[in-house]
Amino acid sequence: MPELPDVEAVVQRIRPHVVGRKILEVEVLSPRTVRHPAPALFARLLSNKKVQAIRRRGKYIVFEIDDGRILVIHLRMTGDLVVESRGTRVDPHTRLTFLLEGGKELRFVDARRLGHAHLLHPEEINLLKGFSTLGPEPLASEFTLAAFRRRLRGRKGMLKSLLLRQDFIAGLGNIYADEVLFQAGLSPMRRVEELRPQEEKALFEAIRRCLREAVRNLLRRGEPGGELIPVREEDAPCPRCGTPLEMRRVSGRSSYYCPRCQPLPAR
Ligand SMILES: [Zn+2]
Repeated sequence: MPELPDVEAVVQRIRPHVVGRKILEVEVLSPRTVRHPAPALFARLLSNKKVQAIRRRGKYIVFEIDDGRILVIHLRMTGDLVVESRGTRVDPHTRLTFLLEGGKELRFVDARRLGHAHLLHPEEINLLKGFSTLGPEPLASEFTLAAFRRRLRGRKGMLKSLLLRQDFIAGLGNIYADEVLFQAGLSPMRRVEELRPQEEKALFEAIRRCLREAVRNLLRRGEPGGELIPVREEDAPCPRCGTPLEMRRVSGRSSYYCPRCQPLPAR
C-alpha cells in the first residue's frame, strides 16, 4: 500500500512531464474511480486546462489546475501514476488517461480500483473526508522536534496507533510505522504518555530519517543501491540482533517488532 515515500516518489517522477503542460483530453475508463464531479463533467472540465503544479499532501497527490481547481488523486492500495507515450500498450488496469500536449499520456493504473480522483474548487476540499484534518508533513522544515513534542502533549495510548493516525502526522502507514519504531528502538505497544524526552527525540529522528531515506531509495529503484524496506515477518530474524521477530495486532494492523531491540519497560 503506497505510503508517504511511495507517493512522494510518484510525484517526483511524473512532475517534469506534467507541470506546465496542457491536458488535451481525459478518458475515464472506470467511472467509479472519479468520485467528484460526474465522470463526463470531470473529463470536460479538465480538457484544455494546464497543470500549474503538482504536490503531495499526506498520501494524496494534488494537481493545481490553471482554472483554480485542484485534481486530487489517492492511490489507495494498488494505484500508480505513470507517464507513457501515446499509442504505447495500455495496461488493462488503467482507469484514467490524461493526454498531455507533446504526445505523452499520464495514466492512472489501479488493479483493485480502490483509488479515486476528485476535481474540486479549493473551498470544496471538505468533500474529501480526511484531507482537511491531515496532520503536519513530517518532511517539511516546519516539522521540528519542538513541534513534534507539542503534538505529543496530551496524547495517550499505544504508540503504533498514534503513528498511523493521519491527523497526527500525515503519510505514515503500517510498513513505515513499523520501520520507524524499529529504528527508534520503541515497542509498538509503548504508551505514548510514558515516553521519556530522549525517546521522543529518537522517535522524531527516526521518522525523518526513515522517510527521507525511503524516498531516496524509491527514486533509485532499479539502479544499484536502491534497496527497499525489508519485509518483516513473524519469526524472521531481527535485522539487528537476530532475535525472532514477534507480531501483535495494534489498531487492527499487524505490527512486527523485535522484543529485544524494542522492549517494553518493566512494570
Ligand atoms: Zn533485535
